Amino acid sequence: MALSEFELIKRYFFQSARAFGVNMGIGDDCALLSVPENKVLAVSMDTLVGGIHFPRNADPELIAERALRVNLSDLAAMGAEPLWFTLGLTMPKADEQWLEGFSRGLFACADQYNIALVGGDTTRGPLAITIQVHGAVEQDYAFMRGNARVGDVIYVTDQLGNAAAALAVIRQELSVGKSAFSYFMQHYYRPVPRLKEAKLLRGITHCAIDVSDGLLADLGHICEESGVGAKVDIERVPVSTALNKVAEAEQIANWALGGGDDYQLCFTVPQAKMAKVEQLIADGKLNATAIGEIVKGGDVTCLLDGEPYEPSRRGYSHFDRA
Ligand code: ADP
Ligand code: MG
Repeated sequence: MALSEFELIKRYFFQSARAFGVNMGIGDDCALLSVPENKVLAVSMDTLVGGIHFPRNADPELIAERALRVNLSDLAAMGAEPLWFTLGLTMPKADEQWLEGFSRGLFACADQYNIALVGGDTTRGPLAITIQVHGAVEQDYAFMRGNARVGDVIYVTDQLGNAAAALAVIRQELSVGKSAFSYFMQHYYRPVPRLKEAKLLRGITHCAIDVSDGLLADLGHICEESGVGAKVDIERVPVSTALNKVAEAEQIANWALGGGDDYQLCFTVPQAKMAKVEQLIADGKLNATAIGEIVKGGDVTCLLDGEPYEPSRRGYSHFDRA
């Protein structure tokens, strides 16, 4: 690399991290961090590989945004507040223009969500970005996948299916007008980590997951961990007006139920606490919709107008088509 590894790191990734608990940030052998009192550390990592998770020639600013946002989404899904992150960057060459955009997107997003870069590693190889986020949560308020109970109401934030439509556009399986194009791309590259929603739901839900692989697949993880089943009313699954305009009902259902990458929060609420959620929704503080119920059994089943319905696509798994 023309630029020495250290020069490169210094130029694009050193930022004086004056964040909470950073006793030593980037620049030494390890970062030294203080965990907030009475909380536990929530740690999660996600890797995005060029050509698999995003097109290799995608805008580096957007790649950075997406990489950090999907990680922040995991903190939200655990009910944790962001603190710090580390970055593993593998790239074929030290392309300064690329790095400049990547770094800009990364820090814009880090500032927005109040999370500090405290270390990482930089290597040469096929383009891949690994981010590990660290957050804090009170143990008793963590949202665990194993906490769903029969009778709980299943909710999902905002809308599903927009990111799947974006992917269809990227893969040239769908062509849309200019405004729909930017709307879907925005959802794909800049998903909103549902941190605000997670904070509102503290003590109301004890079970959540972020929808990264598709609603039914991710709900399946909740069911497996909790030893329960789930029933989803398809007509209640929220989708955007933009989505409704570009495809037929069956296609839309497939995207909303089986498409990943939306990073909405799916959470379960005991009947006794449902009124609190409905109040938050009525007050305009929470954008969420009840879409079904936790039931006995182990399967995730779908109903369309009360009749059993089997979607043709249930979710995405990396090794399905290996
Ligand atoms: P070491 O040889 O000890 O692994 P490095 O030269 O890899 O050290 O890294 C030097 C410092 O720069 C460390 O503090 C490390 O955390 C940080 N660092 C390296 N790469 C990155 C990166 N991509 N983003 C943020 N910090 C990085
Ligand atoms: Mg290193």
